[in-house]
Amino acid sequence: MTQALHGRTFRVGSNDYTIEMVNGLVRRHDLAGQVGYDDNVIKIDDALCKSRMHEVVVHELTHAMFEEAGYADDDKIGSEDEVNRLGKVLHGMLRDNDFGFIRGEDRGRPAEILDAFLQDIDTHLRATPDPLPYIEATMRKYWAYKEVTSNDNA
Ligand SMILES: [Zn+2]
Repeated sequence: MTQALHGRTFRVGSNDYTIEMVNGLVRRHDLAGQVGYDDNVIKIDDALCKSRMHEVVVHELTHAMFEEAGYADDDKIGSEDEVNRLGKVLHGMLRDNDFGFIRGEDRGRPAEILDAFLQDIDTHLRATPDPLPYIEATMRKYWAYKEVTSNDNA
């Protein structure tokens, strides 16, 4: 699970933030996560359990949202308490809902997706004397799709 997040980037406003899993952040600095606005790196302690880890990622991204919205030097808006509260609600909302429709993706209907891939394979079988590379590529795309969607739902 640690590897799945390490190196992943999240675009907030016009900046991309990269996740870096680090060892001993809690132990050394009493922090589960930390966002840097100079290098746009979000450090997450690698010893956290999965749900806490995800919550901390969303928490740090919430800090980044306030930064990108221009509240960096505002002491009244974007306090740790506000980020805590918003981050917890945002984490649950992102986890418990499918936002693929915003990106125009047809998620949540795996049977239809699988059917589309199988039709693709059928076309390759009929269209080429050597369909194996195309079939392999299609299956890899399907597995990648499944991994992405199952990670999103985890
Ligand atoms: Zn914070």
